Amino acid sequence: MNPFDWQRMLLHEFPLGFLGEVMLRSLFAFIVVFAFLRFSGRRGVRQISLFEVLVILTLGSAAGDVSFYEDVPLLPILAVFVTLLCLYRLTTYAMERNARFGAWMEGKPVVIIKDGLYDTEALGRKNIASDEFFMELRRQNVEHLGQVRLGILEVNGDVSLYYFDESETRPGLSVLPPCLRRDHAQIPSDGLYSCNHCGMTSLQRAGEKPSCQHCNNDTWSKSIGRKRLTSATRP
Ligand SMILES: [Zn+2]
Repeated sequence: MNPFDWQRMLLHEFPLGFLGEVMLRSLFAFIVVFAFLRFSGRRGVRQISLFEVLVILTLGSAAGDVSFYEDVPLLPILAVFVTLLCLYRLTTYAMERNARFGAWMEGKPVVIIKDGLYDTEALGRKNIASDEFFMELRRQNVEHLGQVRLGILEVNGDVSLYYFDESETRPGLSVLPPCLRRDHAQIPSDGLYSCNHCGMTSLQRAGEKPSCQHCNNDTWSKSIGRKRLTSATRP
């Protein structure tokens, strides 16, 4: 006996001809989504803001439903797309005209690193874990915070970095993962250490258990002083 009900699994109660209808419905969904993207004024899909993610999710759901649900008629879906398009154009127009509304909809860029120090308050407000942010820094070839003059978290989640000149680079907090960065509550030997929380760097003596003057945190790791190798300094 066949353990699987293939008829139900593959087609349920639909006649084979329904597949043709699905193709037509998919073509319809394709055309309206294409028309939406074409008339929304966007050039590509890079740098999608939160607002656009919302529009795309709604679009995707409507396009999926109309493609293969036999009881979803086409005209209401068309109405969904036209409404979304009008809303989208209206909102982007309002965002361009009114900077405050734009900032409210999309968020504002936030300064996260200033002069080699981490703004832990700003990061906390944005609800971002430092691990996640450190990964972004590593992806841009940053080894420690002392290489970074200014770090800005953009509204689309990208991180823009501005570096110190080679001569201005200072020792700073390592952004390497825990297997490459040892954390200490008690300083093992004299030298420069950086606060693991905010990146403040200072000279510490062996055996001490210091608290950070800047943020009160009490774990430290050995500062890194390496300069960034830029294309100008490469042999
Ligand atoms: Zn600190």
